Amino acid sequence: MKKEKIVTKPNAKNMVENVLEQFNSAADQANLNENVRKILSITNNEIIVHFPVKMDNGKVEIFSGYRVQHNNALGPYKGGLRYHSTVDIDAARALAMWMTWKTSLAGLPYGGAKGGIQLDPSLYSDGELERITRRFTYALGENIGPDYDIPAPDVNTNAQTMAWMADTYMSTKSPSERSLNQHVVTGKPIESGGLEGRTQATGYGVYFLIKMWADENGISLKGKKYTVQGFGNVGYWASYFLAKDGAKLIGVQDATCSIYNEKGIDVEKLFAYASANKGSIEGYRKATEIDKLAFFGIDCDILIPAALGNQITEKNAHEIKAKLVAEGANGPTNVEGEKILLANGVSILPDILCNSGGVIASYFEWLQNRNGEIWQLDDVFVKLDKKLAESYRKVKDYAKAEGIDFRTAAYCIAIKRIEKAYIQRGIFP
Ligand code: NAD
Repeated sequence: MKKEKIVTKPNAKNMVENVLEQFNSAADQANLNENVRKILSITNNEIIVHFPVKMDNGKVEIFSGYRVQHNNALGPYKGGLRYHSTVDIDAARALAMWMTWKTSLAGLPYGGAKGGIQLDPSLYSDGELERITRRFTYALGENIGPDYDIPAPDVNTNAQTMAWMADTYMSTKSPSERSLNQHVVTGKPIESGGLEGRTQATGYGVYFLIKMWADENGISLKGKKYTVQGFGNVGYWASYFLAKDGAKLIGVQDATCSIYNEKGIDVEKLFAYASANKGSIEGYRKATEIDKLAFFGIDCDILIPAALGNQITEKNAHEIKAKLVAEGANGPTNVEGEKILLANGVSILPDILCNSGGVIASYFEWLQNRNGEIWQLDDVFVKLDKKLAESYRKVKDYAKAEGIDFRTAAYCIAIKRIEKAYIQRGIFP
């Protein structure tokens, strides 16, 4: 296990610098205890594993996997695993910190972690991905666990990935203890202990919070134009629920291309097309392909970044015409980008609030497994709505009372909850 202080690169402003800047400005605003500030500025544990996997052609490839555990003052570490070429220790650190703020804000008994493997999954067969996932899980060993650190899906990982992880972890236990460990990961398929509604939960939450914001501002979603960056789990489900409420999807960007149709893009047809096209929207006939750089400038009411971090920056924020940016992704807007948006009167539903539906549903799945229960879909949505509405109101009221933006308010609420836990317990020894 490797522990080191976070050192950021001198020139390139990366995601860690971004999240630390957001944190420090909230810590100033909330007058956070200086010792707690020190603790929360670093990650608790950083695990890097290198492991061999036999490929379909018989050759062995070595992979590097990461798991960063930022803080567990409020409960076990919790956060996704990502399979992407951009995964590295910096990205995992930043994403782990965002998880700590997110679980705290949502009032969950969890801390924050994140990780993944640096790879492009499109280059591997299903069999290879299964062996990579199983060997990674085995290499992580007791660094994860149902009451210690609980991974979940993220970019390019899904319920199938979680089923392989759960099975591998459970297979390392004696038969009599196997079932006690089912909640080592969340986001599993229903038949393998998953929760009804977990797949939809993050995108649904994005929609639900947009709706709360719209209702509060006297805006009807009917006919409102929206664009989505990323048409995976989060982007698709947010689009699905918005379309059901009468809003009109007019632009989509994924890793392969950007498409536009001012008359509207049928969410279900695009989803069916992408599903049959290895997840890609490229070549969809009922929209026009546009230049990648033109995407953020599309004239729309709501923009949903639901792909990677650092997408809205000082380079493109001034082009954004949307009145609301709803952050489905983690860290899609950097500090400079946010300043421009706010100066232009654009409202932002910050990531730690906006995409928290996913981790809230993961918590429900964890409870379901721990208690040997099976929850019904209707109950899941009722409970999810309640938690999301609570978080929204807390953030809105705090922002109003202090005269600050939503992100700073959300951070203040999150870090003050952790501060209380540290003050109550003190520092061991
Ligand atoms: P996913 O793998 O299902 O989909 C990712 C989408 O992003 C794909 O459409 C992909 O083509 C697109 N994409 C990748 N690189 C891109 C690029 N450079 N430009 C434009 N599009 C690009 O992943 P997901 O689970 O939907 O996660 C998306 C975001 O939401 C991530 O930031 C993730 O951390 C965040 N998030 C996910 C969950 C969850 O429950 N899955 C929960 C909270 C937050």
